[in-house]
Amino acid sequence: MTVFKNENWIKKKLASAKQAVSKIQLQRLTGRMKSMLSKVDRIPNEREAESDTNLQIEAGSKKRPFAKERMQSTLDSIRQAAWPKELYAKARYYRMQLATGAGALGIATVVTLGGSQYVQMNTVEVFHVYLENQEVGVVSDPQVVDDFKLAKVKEIEQKYPDVHMVLNTDEVTLKSEKAFKAKSDDQGTLDKLSGMLKSHAVGVQLIVDGQPVGILKDADTAEGLFDEIKSKYASGKAKDAGKVMVLSAAQPKELQAGESEMQKVEFVQKVELKPIDIDPSAVQKTEDLAQKLETGDIQPTKYTVAKGDCVSCIAKKFNISKQVIYQNNPWIVDDMIKVGQQIDLTVLQPALSVRTVEKIVENQEIQYETEYVQDDTVRAGITETINEGKNGLKKVTFNVTKVNGLMMEEELLSEEVIQEPVKAKIRRGTKVIKGEGTGKFSWPVISARLSSGYGSRWGKLHKGVDLTSGNKSIMAADNGKVVYAGFKSDYGNHIIIDHMNGYRTLYGHLSKIDVSVGKIVEKGDKIGTMGSTGDSTGVHLHFEIQKGTTPENPSKYLNF
Ligand SMILES: [Zn+2]
Repeated sequence: MTVFKNENWIKKKLASAKQAVSKIQLQRLTGRMKSMLSKVDRIPNEREAESDTNLQIEAGSKKRPFAKERMQSTLDSIRQAAWPKELYAKARYYRMQLATGAGALGIATVVTLGGSQYVQMNTVEVFHVYLENQEVGVVSDPQVVDDFKLAKVKEIEQKYPDVHMVLNTDEVTLKSEKAFKAKSDDQGTLDKLSGMLKSHAVGVQLIVDGQPVGILKDADTAEGLFDEIKSKYASGKAKDAGKVMVLSAAQPKELQAGESEMQKVEFVQKVELKPIDIDPSAVQKTEDLAQKLETGDIQPTKYTVAKGDCVSCIAKKFNISKQVIYQNNPWIVDDMIKVGQQIDLTVLQPALSVRTVEKIVENQEIQYETEYVQDDTVRAGITETINEGKNGLKKVTFNVTKVNGLMMEEELLSEEVIQEPVKAKIRRGTKVIKGEGTGKFSWPVISARLSSGYGSRWGKLHKGVDLTSGNKSIMAADNGKVVYAGFKSDYGNHIIIDHMNGYRTLYGHLSKIDVSVGKIVEKGDKIGTMGSTGDSTGVHLHFEIQKGTTPENPSKYLNF
């Protein structure tokens, strides 16, 4: 399209054309020019120029933008030349010839073929409008139909704000026709088309694990609902978990102790959205569907605490998790429940469950170890601290997977020791002295009965206790070493054991002595037999406990 090279070129053509035609022909041409100029007696503004262009090149062509582009350069060159309106009109006229297919011959040809030019001048392009291949009418300009379609869609959107309505405007097609004095009827065609257009509602069906669960207005509404459900289990930044994840993949962020980062927020179930044609009344309220998705249409279950119930007992009885009981009944503290209280045991069965994976970084204490150092210079049973132990610290990174906020899995990712623990060192005595007493006395006779207690008796001190029993065996009251085993008039046959811890015990009036001096005995060893030797009135054991050389009341050491 470089026909309009410049003004001079046109002028030259016109001049040569004038010379070539007869006066009459020239008059006819001039007349026609004049009539044309009267039609376009304005310098078209941009908009008009454009639509004019469209009209020229759109006929039967779907390559409108492309053709428009090509024409644009031509229009621009016209505008740039800033021709007087007369010339512009001429040029425009000439362009029409080109566009309709005859123009390639040039203006000289047009002029010489003035007769056929008349027909072409009166050739009008019109557009037949079809709906589903049925002709509706004829319009003058495709724009008329485009505008109508837009207005119609807007109108139906206003009428059904909650439902996504679709008009079958896609089935409207146009066919151009160029005919001599062709007629069009814009309004009539649009009126008729308006009555023929059909609207229907479309929605998206929400399918969870293959099961249809509801219908929403559109995908945007569904996505909004999904975000809302997910956000309940994802804190703040987690809503953008997808973004966060992408960021951290490219540029790993070092989390500090006490920080966490949502790695994933996703549905456990497979969720699909399927566009479907629907009855406008089938669209569900987002809130209703949200509730259904989150609770699963479950009726609440209440339980009254009975005697003997406990939280874990109830959980076991109903085969539910203790965590559910705590979640539903936040008033339960320290597992305290009372008979008659009502407990909510509703277990929700959400159609949609949200799985979150959160990376958590925590500082954890490392328990110190204790090392024992055996020391045979210290008596057995005695310990002393050499070094105090100190707990260490480690930074632990782990992933916590939760479903609907309930912990499912914890995965340790890494551990980094910040501070090593300090081992405790403890000295433990191992020294065992043979015959050394434990410091605790046991009964020297089994099933002993006290026949006479410690204290003053008949004007003098009774230095021990008198014990009788059906069992005559006498046993060492503690570990020790026999320091006396023999007979004296008052105690008769008797034994004295030194426990080597400051204490001695004396066993008197024995009928038989089983040990000799120097013998090491252990607590409970049989050392002799009960008797009535010495200054005695009947078979019994006279038993003394001496601290140093002073007799003590044995009831201080033995439980009478
Ligand atoms: Zn006595």
